[in-house]
Amino acid sequence: MKLEPRMVPKPIWGVALRTSLKSRWLPEVSRPVRNHAMVCEVCGGRGHCRRSRWRLCCDEVWDYSDADPVVSALIEMVGADLTAADLTAIEGAVPLIRPVAFSLLDAPPVARLTDLQAICWDCNAMIHFGHTESTAKVKGWAGVEPVVSHAARVNGVPVDAMVQRIIYAKAAWLIRSHVPGWTITWDGWESIRDRKAGRSA
Ligand SMILES: [Zn+2]
Repeated sequence: MKLEPRMVPKPIWGVALRTSLKSRWLPEVSRPVRNHAMVCEVCGGRGHCRRSRWRLCCDEVWDYSDADPVVSALIEMVGADLTAADLTAIEGAVPLIRPVAFSLLDAPPVARLTDLQAICWDCNAMIHFGHTESTAKVKGWAGVEPVVSHAARVNGVPVDAMVQRIIYAKAAWLIRSHVPGWTITWDGWESIRDRKAGRSA
């Protein structure tokens, strides 16, 4: 699926290129990337960003792949067809998950900045679904239905399949949030920015 949640593991909440660059973020990264893209890189829409006057938001794409063996193994233990009840079970198993997570890791997990993309508010709301859900003005399904429907349309799947994918992503997030010892790297962000701002040859 090209549009699905990519929720930031809890131990590294707040760690971002944006927060690190502070006042340099807007002129050096966000604005050049958004200006070059013109339309949302995920859905192709013209976009509108509810948090600012801009049409598009600049999204940091992070890869948490070094934790994937842990996530896959634990989800396999619970079963691939996850339900909302399984999420509660995973949450309850947190004290058990920690030692298992340790034993499955060959090396400390790495969070790596892999891309910068200009996206519309609806795509951004699906990528950061946990935040969207917790800050929605209307609680429950009604508050998130437009975002889920948008993602289902973009991916060309039924809404039910999108809901299932969100449950999977939440399970992955719960597990990743209990993986210890993250290393964070945004090495090479300047070349990513140059490429996405149309500056490279
Ligand atoms: Zn979009």
